[in-house]
Amino acid sequence: TAQFDINQIRPQFPALHQDCNDQPLVYLDSAATAQKPQVVIETIRQYYSGHNANVHRGSHSLTATATAQFERARNTVQQFINARFSNEIIWTRGATEALNLIAQTYARQNLQVGDEILVSELEHHANIVPWQIVAEQTGAKVVKIPMKPDCTLDMDAFHQCLTDNTKIVAVAHITNVTGTRNPIEQIIADAHQQGAVVVVDGAQGIVHETVDVQAMDADFYVFSGHKLYAPTGIGVLYGKQAILEAMPPWHGGGKMVEKVSFAGTTFSGLPGKFEAGTPNVAGSLALATAIDWLQSLDREGAEQHIQRLRQKAIDGIAEIEGLRIVGLQANASLFSFIVEGVHHQDIATLLDQQGIALRAGHHCAHPMLDALGLTGTLRVSLALYNTEQDIERFIAALHKACSLL
Ligand code: PMP
Repeated sequence: TAQFDINQIRPQFPALHQDCNDQPLVYLDSAATAQKPQVVIETIRQYYSGHNANVHRGSHSLTATATAQFERARNTVQQFINARFSNEIIWTRGATEALNLIAQTYARQNLQVGDEILVSELEHHANIVPWQIVAEQTGAKVVKIPMKPDCTLDMDAFHQCLTDNTKIVAVAHITNVTGTRNPIEQIIADAHQQGAVVVVDGAQGIVHETVDVQAMDADFYVFSGHKLYAPTGIGVLYGKQAILEAMPPWHGGGKMVEKVSFAGTTFSGLPGKFEAGTPNVAGSLALATAIDWLQSLDREGAEQHIQRLRQKAIDGIAEIEGLRIVGLQANASLFSFIVEGVHHQDIATLLDQQGIALRAGHHCAHPMLDALGLTGTLRVSLALYNTEQDIERFIAALHKACSLL
């Protein structure tokens, strides 16, 4: 692979080349969703202009081609995260749906009164609420693993929480508010010693690290396509084969069955068992394209580029009066900040007027914000298509916004 070159990357993203409020757009909200390269958009166009057909059904040529491409896409994901078997890859709508699937199948079947689900305080709501729902259904309890004031997980507290009652540990690989990377390898090893399974929310982590689920030894690893330069509406649930096989199905419908009669129904094996109904074929193909595209790049160079830009942004705004970076982490792709005495939404509005798109609010992480005593932050999140100029525009726009407020 050739060395990372931003000048080769940026032109491949059509959405970046537009004006926003009469200024060239500066997109700093990639942790919410990433923009898409032309090859990904082209895959969707080609699919619907060509081999569009239902998959795993019927016998005509179009459906055979669509099915072959769809299953090849599954293999691409398998190789990308180094899963042992391709049937350990289940297509979902995204990370949220994957987490709900685990909660409503694995957890609902295995949890009993008195069992505990450990959930870190740094989680996105998608990795909290499904556990609360299944706790309510089973009589199990959700137990918080607290974070420390520096926005890293309190590992001493984790070890205290981890008991014979612990059945599931749910943690993010990388959190979306501060970019904290949780020590998931350690968490997984410790949880396994207690016989608990670990669910890793990889929505942010998959974008910025090379993931090897076997080396990591995660029982479940989930992510969304849309943060990984692929479309919305497609995501992945990875689970260890033996665990997935023992899980009951969730949604009922076509493809997840072997034989249906009114006397009873038998279910298909993996991965079909968890893929009821017509899937998002175009989304799967486009996710595979995004992965191939990403793997054709110098990913390490891309991450260095992102981190260099992040440091430039932090240095450029450090002198603004009252500005405070919340839970600053080393080597992250994003950072959150507040300006004392000024509402985050007012700053976001003034930035938007200058063509700067970033996220203001609670980032779907109420418990973490509560722990910080904040109602919201501003978040700058970067992707490999951002430029020095983006950062210079952001720095100037933030200085201007703060001087007006
Ligand atoms: N977990 C984390 C850490 C996230 O950042 C997000 C998206 N903001 C999600 C889960 C949920 O992803 P989705 O909405 O794509 O299902």
